[in-house]
Amino acid sequence: MAHAARAAGFSILGFSSHAPLPFRTGWNMDLERAPEYVRTLRELGREYAPTMEILAGLEIDFIDGLCGPADGRFAEAGLDFSIGSAHFVTPAGAPAPSVEALDEAGEPTFGFTVDEPEEDFERHLERFYDGDALALVDDYYAAVAACAKAGGFDILGHFDLIRKNNRGQSRFREDSERYRRAAMGAVEAVAAADVIVEINTGGIARGKTDSPYPALWVLKELRARGVRVCVNADAHAPAQLGANRDDGLRLAAAAGYRSLAAFGKGGRFEIPLD
Ligand SMILES: [Zn+2]
Repeated sequence: MAHAARAAGFSILGFSSHAPLPFRTGWNMDLERAPEYVRTLRELGREYAPTMEILAGLEIDFIDGLCGPADGRFAEAGLDFSIGSAHFVTPAGAPAPSVEALDEAGEPTFGFTVDEPEEDFERHLERFYDGDALALVDDYYAAVAACAKAGGFDILGHFDLIRKNNRGQSRFREDSERYRRAAMGAVEAVAAADVIVEINTGGIARGKTDSPYPALWVLKELRARGVRVCVNADAHAPAQLGANRDDGLRLAAAAGYRSLAAFGKGGRFEIPLD
């Protein structure tokens, strides 16, 4: 990743691997590997220092009632930045979130991630919500709002990730009254918190959405409330670094932004959009 970023002319590269959860998943780093992750990034940072800054970050999951960026589990890692993200919803009919609420395969029984593969998503939507996708939307945005309110991170990840399994508005209408009300609840919570919102081009780069997260109308509401934004590729492979960056920049401009928030070794700064 570092090699590809330097070849592409990056001056700063931030790593934000999925932080360990209190239970194992196929997509989060195991807790015992966290020190190795930070150590590797610091070594890379020294190696690349003459031409590119490397920042050590984590994308930390918020699971209501179980864990989140605010619980300080990674405070000792000395991160340069952190992303707070809601992937999990915890439906009312499911067991209370805990590290014991796992099935024989080690999968959580207290909820599921809204960006999971479509067939799993379909199954969970039926099981926990009787197919009522807007009820799931309510729970998702409540989780985003609770994550923002709890704080403990710099950047809120993929605001409307719930759109990922709704290509072509196949499961719910994003212009419906109920959808907008749910999303606005999260907009207000984010505006009240001192966090940056990312314009995330990962969904569009991987063909899951037609536009970056968040949707333009959401971004306009955030801007009206003075919320700062940055543009992230959510790259999971070297070829995805900076993917669809122009789409992200155009979206920011369309929402009325004149500059983007960024992080470097010296802390947070703004980059003019032009
Ligand atoms: Zn994420």
